[in-house]
Amino acid sequence: MRIELEQVRTMPARLEPGVLYVSEEFETAAHLCACGCRSKVRTPLGPTEWRFTHYAEGPSLQPSIGNWQLPCKSHYWIDRGEIKWSTKWSHEQIAAGRAAEERRREHHYAVLYPDRWWARVWRWLKSMLG
Ligand SMILES: [Zn+2]
Repeated sequence: MRIELEQVRTMPARLEPGVLYVSEEFETAAHLCACGCRSKVRTPLGPTEWRFTHYAEGPSLQPSIGNWQLPCKSHYWIDRGEIKWSTKWSHEQIAAGRAAEERRREHHYAVLYPDRWWARVWRWLKSMLG
């Protein structure tokens, strides 16, 4: 199953299936759930959100799209214009996915704001060990 890229400035009110709409200006992407349930899936773009890459073969989004908030609970990758299906997520996987997302954010903000307490504790620990 293929998904085409359409670069837009603002998201159209009506999305077509099989199209990934990307607004780099507003750092957001949207598409209709690849399972065909027609739910709108919005994916913010940014260092702690999804990463959009425009390959010659088609668009890619990283990480995967986990629609656990939708009734269909579909999970897939958009990889170079191709929909690659994954298994449905169990509750444990959903929790693990959310925890990984948290860690990604924490790491990102620790780099941005090195004076936050966790960064100071980390440096102190490193100095004790080193
Ligand atoms: Zn769906």
